[in-house]
Amino acid sequence: MKKKAGLKARVAMLDFDNTITRHDTIDSLLERFSMDDQWIILEKLWKNRKIGSRVCLEGQIKGIRITRRELKRYLGGIKLDPYFKKLIRLLRSKKIRPVIVTDNFDIFVAEILRRHNVGRIPVYSNKVSMVQNRLVPRFPLTNKECGTCANCKKRKLLSHRTKYGKIIYIGDGLSDLCASKHADMVFAKGSLIRHCLEEGLEHVPFKNLKDVCDYFERSGS
Ligand SMILES: [Mg+2]
Repeated sequence: MKKKAGLKARVAMLDFDNTITRHDTIDSLLERFSMDDQWIILEKLWKNRKIGSRVCLEGQIKGIRITRRELKRYLGGIKLDPYFKKLIRLLRSKKIRPVIVTDNFDIFVAEILRRHNVGRIPVYSNKVSMVQNRLVPRFPLTNKECGTCANCKKRKLLSHRTKYGKIIYIGDGLSDLCASKHADMVFAKGSLIRHCLEEGLEHVPFKNLKDVCDYFERSGS
């Protein structure tokens, strides 16, 4: 699906973990706070595409035991790609609207962005609440017709088609593949590069967001 005639507005959809952050924040949360190794089994099943990310994440998050204080401290230590804020400024200077689409969770992402003084950016994510030292996940953005991903990034991308003439996608992993297939332009890092190559998808590879900044600084419009 390509540009819709007459629509000039542009949007850049960014994945969060490993794209905006330097590491996968859920993986390290699981490593440190899971009550057993069940999360590793679920992770392997997901990587081998035996289960979708919704089933995987639901099981993994439910296996975490963490206090509010531990969670706050953990989220406070998450580092962002040093060029993330520059990229946001650059995109906005070119009238490209940044949005975040992620299989992470609302309160985690909000806290991490707040700690780094990132201003308001729309975030489409899963949801989680705390009940004592347990996390209770919810997945309001699952696509029931597919059910593979917890948060269907493809559906969000397609919903932007009515508003935007060009959709840019920036991501790093398997959960970014479906959306990437429908974007007008893809920046790929990590395993998303391999998935794009396997699917014959055109993409611009990047190592970190400096490469993406450089691209937009070089491009005139
Ligand atoms: Mg990611």
